[in-house]
Amino acid sequence: MFDKILIANRGEIACRVAATARRLAVRTVAVYSEADADAAHVAACDEAVALGGSAPKDSYLQWQRILEAARATGAQAVHPGYGFLSENEDFARACAEAGLVFIGPPPAAIRAMGLKAESKRLMEQAGVPLVPGYHGADQDDALLAREAGRIGYPVLIKASAGGGGKGMRIVEKPEDFAAALASCRREASNSFGNDAVLVEKYVQRPRHIEMQVFGDTQGRVVHLFERDCSVQRRYQKVLEEAPAPGLPDDLRERMGAAAIAAARAVGYVGAGTVEFIVEQPGGYLLEGADAGFAAEPPQGETRPPRGAGSGTQCATVGARFYFMEMNTRLQVEHPVTEAITGLDLVEWQLRVASGEPLPLAQADLRIDGHAIEARICAENPDNQFLPTTGTLQVYRTPAASAFARSPHGVRIDGGVREGDAVTPFYDPMIAKLIVHGATRAEALARLDAALAATRIAGLATNVAFLRRIVASPSFAPARLDTALIERERAALFGHDAVGLPLAAAAAVAHRVEAERAQQQGAGPFGRRDGWRGLGLATRRFDFLWHDQPARAVLTYGRAGALRLAVGDGADEPLQWRSTAGGLDLHLGPQRVQAEVHALGDALHVFTPAGSARIDLQDRLAHAGDAPAEGGRLTAPMPGKVVSFAVRAGDTVARGQPLAVMEAMKMEHTIAAPADGVVEELLHAPGDQVAEGAELLRLAAAA
Ligand code: ADP
Ligand code: ADP
Ligand code: MG
Repeated sequence: MFDKILIANRGEIACRVAATARRLAVRTVAVYSEADADAAHVAACDEAVALGGSAPKDSYLQWQRILEAARATGAQAVHPGYGFLSENEDFARACAEAGLVFIGPPPAAIRAMGLKAESKRLMEQAGVPLVPGYHGADQDDALLAREAGRIGYPVLIKASAGGGGKGMRIVEKPEDFAAALASCRREASNSFGNDAVLVEKYVQRPRHIEMQVFGDTQGRVVHLFERDCSVQRRYQKVLEEAPAPGLPDDLRERMGAAAIAAARAVGYVGAGTVEFIVEQPGGYLLEGADAGFAAEPPQGETRPPRGAGSGTQCATVGARFYFMEMNTRLQVEHPVTEAITGLDLVEWQLRVASGEPLPLAQADLRIDGHAIEARICAENPDNQFLPTTGTLQVYRTPAASAFARSPHGVRIDGGVREGDAVTPFYDPMIAKLIVHGATRAEALARLDAALAATRIAGLATNVAFLRRIVASPSFAPARLDTALIERERAALFGHDAVGLPLAAAAAVAHRVEAERAQQQGAGPFGRRDGWRGLGLATRRFDFLWHDQPARAVLTYGRAGALRLAVGDGADEPLQWRSTAGGLDLHLGPQRVQAEVHALGDALHVFTPAGSARIDLQDRLAHAGDAPAEGGRLTAPMPGKVVSFAVRAGDTVARGQPLAVMEAMKMEHTIAAPADGVVEELLHAPGDQVAEGAELLRLAAAA
């Protein structure tokens, strides 16, 4: 075993590799970019070396500097993680030339599997089933179009050098082929510097099922079963599970044998993944159903012709599987395999790379229970999954069990801490949540509970979206295919987990509690509510709810009874009690356990159903404090002025939108705090403004 390794990566995977190394008493060297100087992965390692600027090309892809760092620190081996240099044949070779062990496959195996078209030609020779298609070297437009016709529409054009879901085009009919080919080539040459494509049959309602393989330097190769990664958006994985629900044993065996044949064909050593696409012509492979019983396809869907293609047919359900590609590295979703096998794949990587034989033979490997992984990302599902950036002002994850092994528990693989920033330089993945249960149903229940206990504020994430997938009509019964998210659209997008009434009630309760706390011990008026002390019977709260003005009116009745009216709704009795977990809140017939995190004026309300953000408009209302003197309207956060909705001289009503600001890739509408007349605009659209900067001057109406 090595004494010291260098981890040429960042984020959760660098932390994850470091944890196993520590357990094996292997010392670790981190490398980091400018943006990552204080990152979790640097703290997770014994030593750290700065590489350069924040952009990957200036740091994590600077392989000369990485090799120098290894030399300077006396590391004997380099673990590349995933992404970055992990599938870079030249880097693997340069490591060897520098006398370092590259913890991954031989350069020749990376090369052989690097281009999709070439790898398919190799797999064809090795007898691995391929999607019917064209993967030849001749890239003539007319030839490709003819091949598409021969394969039969719809077809998929793929960039041969593609990865990460980029460079793919579905073509439904011959008329669209030429344009799709041109745009696929453009994307391929921009993203990968190589415009070669392949064309293949577009498989209907497929499942993405991949086999984890492992080889050692003695020539042994085993598989560690499959992972189902069918739940995808933009051809990228969202949820992954092992084993694949409903996969018949005979199909698993054949896929395992094909994956081992694929690895052998390229002399594979270390951890790798062979990705297959599985056609379900008879319907869905369903868990718990007898002999993989397949339901009818949904109405209106056409079945692909029987017997088409070279796929291996599974006797029980007619499901066929085809090789898609091989990823020659440790995969993001490897923890679900670890959960069901009880193994540490990074430990296997280190053992194999240091020349030891595989710790177990095929016959010793077993599947125990069911595991599911959810990728928690800084992104906005309601805005085409665009990545978001910002500071993790609140970052609380559920209690996790022991690290690499999680027998029937919850595991969090993360690379960030509360207070860290998510920058635009790298992958938007924040953490992976992995659950394990004796059955899929148990794992699902655990996943739902773990997602509910995940509290993130400061930037938009997909946590609530993941919970909606888990609860969707397709996911629980394992009606899995790569179109699941699209099919469940109506249930997944544009929903508030917490509606305005409850969010407003939680915000009001939180604010009143905060004021009470502030007044505790503040003299004779101590235990009384400030506003009551002023003799008021009602109090109005102004909010922004999805950037729109909203309000709630709290009425103080006899014997301390409170009522709350939200928006145009009728008022309802409101009660709350502070508990260790937050607020036990009753609004009319509704009762909910809410936790509120206040970040300035933004109140993040977490309930078991999900979270919501509501912005108290106090700071803006400040402008209207002295109506007779007019008001100043200031930027509630640092950002950019997008537009003004008014001009100097306009008469405006309270609550009317005045300006739109953009911060953290989100737009915020600034509303008028009071009726008045706009005197002067103090900025132009496009201006960058500091927090508290004056945006415009408003003269209050007489
Ligand atoms: P996996 O099945 O392991 O998710 P992906 O191909 O989606 O495989 O990529 C795994 C990780 O590798 C991604 O999360 C990302 O960090 C990184 N990655 C993949 N492709 C690229 C790329 N073109 N540029 C930068 N990083 C990439
Ligand atoms: P990448 O290198 O980007 O991961 P893959 O070839 O692995 O590219 O394909 C990514 C995803 O695209 C698959 O997981 C699957 O959802 C979809 N896909 C790929 N090939 C096909 C196909 N022939 N028919 C239907 N969907 C496909
Ligand atoms: Mg892939």
